[in-house]
Amino acid sequence: MAQDQQQQINEAQQFPPVVAVLGHVDHGKTTLLDAIRKTSIADREHGGITQKIGASAVEITHDGKPRWVTFIDTPGHEAFTKMRGRGAQAADIALLIVSAGDGVKPQTKESIAVLRETKTPFIVVLTKSDLPTKNPEKVKQELLKEQVMIEGYGGEIPVIEVSAKTNHNIKELLDLVLLMFDMHKAPNYSETISSDMPFQAIVIESKLDTKAGSKATVVIKNGSIAVRDELQTDGQLFKVRTILNDQGKQVQEASIGSAVEVLGFEQVPNVGGLIFSQAQIVAPSIVSAPSQGFTRELVYKKAEKETGLSVILVADTQGSLEAIVNAFPEGIKIMTQKTGEVSDADIMLAKSTGSIMLSFNTKIKPDIAKLALNEKVLLRNYTIIYELLDELKDALEGKLLSQMEQVFGKAKVLAKFPFEKTFAFGVMVNEGRIARGDHVRILRGDEIVGEAAITSLRIGKNQTSKVEKGHEAGTIITPLLDIQVGDVILSHS
Ligand code: GDP
Repeated sequence: MAQDQQQQINEAQQFPPVVAVLGHVDHGKTTLLDAIRKTSIADREHGGITQKIGASAVEITHDGKPRWVTFIDTPGHEAFTKMRGRGAQAADIALLIVSAGDGVKPQTKESIAVLRETKTPFIVVLTKSDLPTKNPEKVKQELLKEQVMIEGYGGEIPVIEVSAKTNHNIKELLDLVLLMFDMHKAPNYSETISSDMPFQAIVIESKLDTKAGSKATVVIKNGSIAVRDELQTDGQLFKVRTILNDQGKQVQEASIGSAVEVLGFEQVPNVGGLIFSQAQIVAPSIVSAPSQGFTRELVYKKAEKETGLSVILVADTQGSLEAIVNAFPEGIKIMTQKTGEVSDADIMLAKSTGSIMLSFNTKIKPDIAKLALNEKVLLRNYTIIYELLDELKDALEGKLLSQMEQVFGKAKVLAKFPFEKTFAFGVMVNEGRIARGDHVRILRGDEIVGEAAITSLRIGKNQTSKVEKGHEAGTIITPLLDIQVGDVILSHS
């Protein structure tokens, strides 16, 4: 986007929302983005659509004023998960793309889970509304089943039917995006976010180009970037050599809300990594993202692909951190080491990098322990260094670290029936016991259907708190997963 336009936008404190597009394959994400780009005033002026990076800036007239929207072509769920793992959130708003004919599919469900976890406001976009096979009512019912509380059905999530073929509602969709963005801005948004604030960006794509070297597409979440700026990401210091806009044109600077390609990195930066100015010692937190948990001592070593044991280490003091690291047996890769407390970002990083999370002499908050359990990250806390080292050696030798999870009981699903707005299940407890409030894992053979909790438990018509082995019970499980007769409910710590 032209710099004078960018300035105009900044002055009005109306930054471009950054919008991610998620949904099941073939539901029309690419075609919709093409249709959106064709509506852009800028593209019309430039006589064509050229998108050179994994993002595009679209200019529209909204409420009589020119506004921009930056769309990022979400590079798949893996990258989205990595970003989540790093505690960073690139998108302000998401579009959940669901074909009005095909309805909710596995990747739709995955997308819903990601949106829910990242607390990203989203709009449900029912695509292909020109097709005679469309059945929006059925799709809406399927969404409600997934607890997507849509407008007109007791919820507030907007739903819009569009067609990328006939351009039906494309302009209305863009207006809705801006409306939602303006509504969701925090009250102090315009004071904390501006092109004059310190630079913050998130890497959404990165690669090694044989000619250009390491490069990355980044979304600017605060401040601005200029050629020759001295920046850092994950402990890597670098100087910006070149900035390319979404059309692949070189620009001297870029500002908040835009996505640009940056060249000049020493190494390929991590997807989901934060970029900030070298003048800032502490990594800033990205607005609207969960807390980063970064500290001054944070040292991030690039994820290595070879096999070996990868760990994230958090210790109470710099002294114990150094003592532990110096005594580490060979073959241990340290993803991150820091002092302080284990944060949710650490757990998600452990998850996305397949690391184990080691903590020494720190307090683990219950919600962090729960997150580790839910995300199946092995989190161990030690107060004696040699215990930590001994277990690590065992783990390296292929011996499993002691089980972190306690199984309380197992029950088999015998019946499923609609109950109020959800489903109730008739179960038989085959092992141990199950209790109200238990965390449960739903198993179908070897497959894990999901994690949930027992929110209601009855024997006959009477509410009960616990049901022992050998007894039948009626139960409600929340959230409502796709639980079927024959599945096993495993209750665990
Ligand atoms: P993606 O995998 O989600 O990016 O889906 P695509 O954009 O590649 O679309 C998948 C198929 O659906 C293609 O054959 C498109 O032409 C078709 N398609 C996408 N949007 C529409 C639409 O609005 N109407 C109709 N009739 N077909 C569409």
